[in-house]
Amino acid sequence: MLETAVIVKVDEGLHARPATQFAKLAKEFSCSLQVFRGTASADAKSAVKLMLLGVKQDDQILLRADGLDETVALPRLMQFLSEPSAGVMVVHKEKEAEVIRLSEKATAALPAGPATAVRGVPASEGFACGDAIAYLPEALRATRQFIEPHEVAEELDRFATAFNGAIAVMSQQFASMQCHKDIVEALADVAQSDEFSGAVKQRIVAGWDAAAATLQVGEELAASFLAMEDEYLRSRADDIRGVTRQVVLRLLDREDVSLACLSKPCIVLAAELTALDFARANLANIVGLVCTKGSATSHLAIMARSQGIPAVLGLPVAEDELRAVRRVALDGARGDVWFDPSAEREAEFAVHIAQDKSRRAALQVFRDVEPVTRDGRRIEVAANLGALSEIDAAIEAGAMGVGLFRTELLFMDQRVLPDEDEQFGIYSRLAEAFYPRPVVIRTLDVGGDKPVPGIEFPKEDNPFLGWRGVRMCLDRPDVFVPQLRALLRASVKGNVQVMVPMVDDVDEVRRVKALIAQCAQALSSEGVAHALPKLGIMIETPAAALTADLLAPEVDFFSIGTNDLTQYVMAVDRMNPGLASLYRTDHPAVLRAIGMVCEAARKANIGVAVCGEAAARPEMIPVLINLGVTELSMSPSSILRAKQIVSEL
Ligand code: PEP
Ligand code: MG
Repeated sequence: MLETAVIVKVDEGLHARPATQFAKLAKEFSCSLQVFRGTASADAKSAVKLMLLGVKQDDQILLRADGLDETVALPRLMQFLSEPSAGVMVVHKEKEAEVIRLSEKATAALPAGPATAVRGVPASEGFACGDAIAYLPEALRATRQFIEPHEVAEELDRFATAFNGAIAVMSQQFASMQCHKDIVEALADVAQSDEFSGAVKQRIVAGWDAAAATLQVGEELAASFLAMEDEYLRSRADDIRGVTRQVVLRLLDREDVSLACLSKPCIVLAAELTALDFARANLANIVGLVCTKGSATSHLAIMARSQGIPAVLGLPVAEDELRAVRRVALDGARGDVWFDPSAEREAEFAVHIAQDKSRRAALQVFRDVEPVTRDGRRIEVAANLGALSEIDAAIEAGAMGVGLFRTELLFMDQRVLPDEDEQFGIYSRLAEAFYPRPVVIRTLDVGGDKPVPGIEFPKEDNPFLGWRGVRMCLDRPDVFVPQLRALLRASVKGNVQVMVPMVDDVDEVRRVKALIAQCAQALSSEGVAHALPKLGIMIETPAAALTADLLAPEVDFFSIGTNDLTQYVMAVDRMNPGLASLYRTDHPAVLRAIGMVCEAARKANIGVAVCGEAAARPEMIPVLINLGVTELSMSPSSILRAKQIVSEL
């Protein structure tokens, strides 16, 4: 028997992929191999047990080998553990959800249709009418708990078929998402482990129904991951649940379709969609969206608007009601939704949709217009983007640059933080696409409400008043510095501008500037090409608005984030659909704050943009321009109309 202590150098420790690879390597040897961490130990040939051991980078562990090839095995495993890159991976997180195809529902005759609409929060304007799809993760239940002894063999077969089918489908899904194969491998490994499929088989042999056994084992295994200290490993519980769900759906003979696979145009009904659901959905086939959660300035609304998808959010109906709906008509500007509308209502909507289409076609004449008000004020109308995939829509809509590139999605869409080079590539492509027009890239703006893998957020009672935006970035140079370096490198192009969110105080701006100067110095000494971009800040807290005169001399531009500014000035949660009527950007308090910011910008001779949702609201555009706003930045789908409004002012 041989034993040796090792310091683990694998990046981020033995999480899914490295654990899987380590176990694979261990299985090449016939000797028994154990890993000890503190008082706990695991079989090195079981990826799941290794993951549950929670070995982190720089942990000291003990490796024990016992058997014929122990002298070869130990150095090979030690070498693996000394390689930081053994843990490098960029993979995507798949959220499980079930789609109930309404076309497959009972074909009873449509009822006459409701005369009145249900009113929710108008979140993205436009009319839509079509087939409904309820996208609601539904808790799965086994139809029975136990089986008869003579059914065991058949049940084991059923499990094997369901299990193999689930793994095959998951592999296909991940392949079509063009993400790393690592995750498939890691999930397959978890699924095939003794802890999962082995344990399920044992229970079947002991007389359990296959679905009941799978649900139980999956939940127990997920709970073991949830109990772990490490945030990353805790989130593996979702993967276990994902595998469990896929297997159980097959055992119950149910279908699980993701929004990525929508094969025909439909209106999605959901409690809410995450940014990732949205990023992966087949948006071309989503013609409308109705959610029971969300508000006009929630990120879901922002995404719907950026894609030009009519949406009503915060609809006051029970989720279960959505399951029974077959057709939907919605008016995203008013927030009205008709479930299973009458034939007359559908005909009326067909007219609205056609008129909308021709109105949009007529707006095309404004595509290349650089709008100037009648009294000679030139207003930039730029795009708010969250992903490179939105560039074409923005250019098509005649965007005069990018007024806000939200970098959150780049960080949320991965299991590890994107590194400097990856970010540099993305920012450069954005700058290139709009050159020579300016692109304003916002530094990471997340908090505990939008968790990002790799950043451990504290549990906070009020995450919107918590550790977020620039506060978090200044505390986490390991996150902020690579982003700043990437931005400085992309600035060589000449049209990149950097914008810092959630600023409260001059000191925060100075600290950001000092970090930028340090990054520039480091890049110079490394001989890496870079340039200093213009630096702006978002004005979205009352503190920033009230001290705009002190902040203005420090920066090159302001951009007013009216979504947050309204929430903080009015003390109204922007996410709470129940308070929608109190959430008023046109309230005198918010308008006074905007006026103060414009006045400070004018005195300091810097530009002042609005990149919150108010910038696209037809009734707000004249107000904002009169207050002194020089740029409006909005979802691409609103740009043409905004150009028209400005030109006619
Ligand atoms: C805002 O607060 O107005 C803004 C544009 O930022 P976000 O909506 O991303 O918080
Ligand atoms: Mg904001």
